[in-house]
Amino acid sequence: MTETLERPTAEPETEPAADDAGKRVAAWLAAFEGALTAGDAEAAALMFDQDSYWRDLLAFTWNIKTVEGPGGVRDMLAATLQHVAPRGFAASEVPSGTPEMTEAWIEFETAAGRGRGHLRLKGDKAWTLLTTLDELKGHEEPQSDRRPMGAEHGADKNRQTWLEKRETVAAELGHTTQPYVVIVGGGQGGIALGARLRQLDVPTIVIERNARPGDSWRNRYKSLCLHDPVWYDHLPYIDFPKNWPVFSPKDKIGDWLEMYTKVMELTYWSSTECKSAKYDEDAGEWIVVVERDGADITLRPKQLVMATGMSGKPNVPTIAGMEGFKGDQHHSSQHPGPDAYAGKKVVVIGSNNSAHDICAALWEAGADVTMVQRSSTHIVRSDSLMDLGLGDLYSERAVASGMTTNKADMTFASLPYRILHEFQIPVYNAIRERDADFYERLAAAGFQLDYGEDDSGLFMKYLRRGSGYYIDVGASELVANGDIKLAPGTVEKLTTASVVLTDGTELPADLVVYATGYGSMNGWAADLISQEVADKVGKVWGLGSDTAKDPGPWEGEQRNMWKPTQQEALWFHGGNLHQSRHYSQYLALQLKARQVGIPTPVYGLEEVHHLS
Ligand SMILES: Cc1cc2nc3c(=O)[nH]c(=O)nc-3n(C[C@H](O)[C@H](O)[C@H](O)COP(=O)(O)OP(=O)(O)OC[C@H]3O[C@@H](n4cnc5c(N)ncnc54)[C@H](O)[C@@H]3O)c2cc1C
Repeated sequence: MTETLERPTAEPETEPAADDAGKRVAAWLAAFEGALTAGDAEAAALMFDQDSYWRDLLAFTWNIKTVEGPGGVRDMLAATLQHVAPRGFAASEVPSGTPEMTEAWIEFETAAGRGRGHLRLKGDKAWTLLTTLDELKGHEEPQSDRRPMGAEHGADKNRQTWLEKRETVAAELGHTTQPYVVIVGGGQGGIALGARLRQLDVPTIVIERNARPGDSWRNRYKSLCLHDPVWYDHLPYIDFPKNWPVFSPKDKIGDWLEMYTKVMELTYWSSTECKSAKYDEDAGEWIVVVERDGADITLRPKQLVMATGMSGKPNVPTIAGMEGFKGDQHHSSQHPGPDAYAGKKVVVIGSNNSAHDICAALWEAGADVTMVQRSSTHIVRSDSLMDLGLGDLYSERAVASGMTTNKADMTFASLPYRILHEFQIPVYNAIRERDADFYERLAAAGFQLDYGEDDSGLFMKYLRRGSGYYIDVGASELVANGDIKLAPGTVEKLTTASVVLTDGTELPADLVVYATGYGSMNGWAADLISQEVADKVGKVWGLGSDTAKDPGPWEGEQRNMWKPTQQEALWFHGGNLHQSRHYSQYLALQLKARQVGIPTPVYGLEEVHHLS
């Protein structure tokens, strides 16, 4: 969520011609390739600035990994150069920029595949390099001139129609043949990954306990619309149409996911619950027990993906007196919507996205609503976020200027997490200036605000801890003007009819909503596999930024997401629609490579520092 793509520096007065940038990039790439081809990690490393970052998505490391400075580059290349055999580096578009900062989109190949990336040069040294594996040689997706014929011309006595083939797969996969991959969780994450694996011809079953694809959205509170705009939300392969709403209502996105699951030909077992999974070391496969139509079925995939959702495991606090409370009480994920609560007193515990959405809908329905705020929250107005935070990459303006979803995703990926906050801080400073009145009114109402520990705003909070913010679509005004009452403090207990805070404030309540967030995804591994495996894998999500809820040490990438974990053949997938779309590509390629026996030596498998 940034559009400021150059680190804030003094601007040169005149912009030299693009062909100068082209020459600088061509010279750097030629020298770089020369060093790589000669197997000279040291020479290649010296082409990087002391302050530099190489982010690799599989191409060199079979990992999602950022190395820093010449030392990091040297270590990584020393371990990988020989088997990666990189070559063919070239600019794929005309480079741009000045001698102080030159930028280029690049392409290259390795022994295993073809890659794309992005380069930023400061003078004649690399400042940032992104390398990504785009496709595996010999296992390219059947797209464009490789698309399937559909109709098979000619005569064939054993002809099976498309429908018959689909029916055969449905009858056999999971019954007489085993899937290579089982994805537990058929929300948008499991669905996007399932679509990619289908295109790569990896036999996969998506297990979903809900009755229909899209139900994980449908089941949320009724006023929910996506907080991110349509340009940010496309799924792989099929963009939303041009008349799709900017902020998709939850039931509409549910229907889209259901349609998508069907047309992308996923083997999707709905109304099926994964009950347990155990890794059989000797066989090198998982024993996954699922309950379908009242009967247990055991699947034996080689790879298991947990796509059970970052916002799936509710954090429900334990509060003295909860059991004696006479009104309704539920976690935000169970909140049915406001209709039954008109005229009732409602206390919502929490002050982030769900709390705000639920409070606003209850107020609209005529409830008397109080929000309990324990700690500060980052608020950013949706309009400002759209305009200043996302506009250059994901907006109608971006589309009009020729930006594609893939280019936006790659641009975003080209900014290493270590320095991402430096790009974000000016964006949020600008938002604070633009919305100064708004923030003043909120503060005057007693709302405790923050902008992230280092003022880097919403997206860094999301990457670090996945919580602590609200994208304002109207509820903040109700907080500012007192329509939603605010109670700062910590809940001490519930009585039969009220919530009592530690300062003695008593809030009468007919309904208490716990908008207290969600637990780490490795909690799902503990539930379904074992505590031992969950501990072996460790915390899922976060960067190790040493900020609240994201303890250090620095990891460089999101913990355990979309990359190999300490448990063989166990993977985690998820995140928002943008992350699900982009990173499903890399997880799918990792799984495909393993399926067809391409060696995948992993460089820099992360150590585990935190259990949850
Ligand atoms: C209020 C709210 C608003 C949000 N707004 C946005 C937004 O605007 N944009 C955005 O990108 N993200 C948003 N998110 C984040 C959102 O949760 C994720 O983007 C999205 O739901 C993640 O998809 P997922 O597939 O990873 O997880 P989920 O959608 O949670 O799907 C996980 C699935 O796993 C299934 N499952 C779990 N355990 C089992 C089991 N044992 N067996 C079988 N199935 C199982 C569940 O039934 C569920 O369907 C929001 C979240 C919340 C709570």
